[in-house]
Amino acid sequence: MKALLLEAPHLLTVAEREVPVAGSGEVLVRMLGVGICGSDLSVFYGHREVPYYPWQMGHEGVGEIVALGSDVVGRSVGERVVIEPNYCCFSCSECRKGNTSGCLNRVIVGMKVPGVMAEFAVVPAAFAWRAPAGLTLAELICLEPLTVGVAAMRRSQIQKGERCLVVGAGSTGLLLLGLLVARGFDAHFVEVNPQRSQLATELGALPHQERNSGYYDKVFETSGSEGGFETALASAAPGATVVLIGLASHAVHVIPADIVRRRLTLVGSMIYDHPIDFATTVGEAPNFLHKVVQARFGLEDAQRAFEQAHEVPGKSWISIVDEGDLP
Ligand SMILES: [Zn+2]
Ligand SMILES: [Zn+2]
Repeated sequence: MKALLLEAPHLLTVAEREVPVAGSGEVLVRMLGVGICGSDLSVFYGHREVPYYPWQMGHEGVGEIVALGSDVVGRSVGERVVIEPNYCCFSCSECRKGNTSGCLNRVIVGMKVPGVMAEFAVVPAAFAWRAPAGLTLAELICLEPLTVGVAAMRRSQIQKGERCLVVGAGSTGLLLLGLLVARGFDAHFVEVNPQRSQLATELGALPHQERNSGYYDKVFETSGSEGGFETALASAAPGATVVLIGLASHAVHVIPADIVRRRLTLVGSMIYDHPIDFATTVGEAPNFLHKVVQARFGLEDAQRAFEQAHEVPGKSWISIVDEGDLP
């Protein structure tokens, strides 16, 4: 089979690899398409370490079951699936509490184990979700990053009528904005890039106005950028919840008394928990996703896809199968 390999930072090649075999509890998936997200770009540019090179990347995968391993029940060949690319162990102390995103043995596809940017991949059946009907392949590719938003909303304990702000309208921010709008919330955004702002507006979100500082009940920081956290804090209303999704790693200036006096709640929202959040996503399958997916590239064009992904507003993805075969 063909697989996309990162030979070294900045250099992708397509190589031949053995087709993997589904073991007990696993399914073999013929991959159809794989999304590119910020964490893949960190790997591509060498900012995020991988176990070895050449490395097979990719975690936002959609495909079709072509074989079942032993002990797989209730699944069938031909079923279209969306991969939940974080496999928890179900038995550690965090998993037993339901915090599978904090699983002490979490297997991160494309980061700790080889990714799914290949013609075939083996996936535990429990993490290969039956794809909802009526969505195109491009839309299905958005379900994994959308689930990050689904989890963030759940953890924010948002109530009907609350005012929301999303800081950053990259793919995660856009999908969260679309979700907030689809669920009937007044969603505002902060974004410096005019094309991303345009996309956010097309999703039905409203640009944040400076006069609305200290106005929002729920603030979601997705940018991970310099100043993103400060913007999120400054925008929060008294008693608000600030949910942090972006993985900013620089130090920030915070005055603790300000958080105390305004009775703010800070929530760190790491990916999603199994199975609750993916179950919500595939059940809800909102209809705005086509607006977020912007650029499709073939496997042979992956180098260009990665190099250009930063400039593309919305999501880029790699189609593994020939264009003509796609729905
Ligand atoms: Zn991702
Ligand atoms: Zn665990």
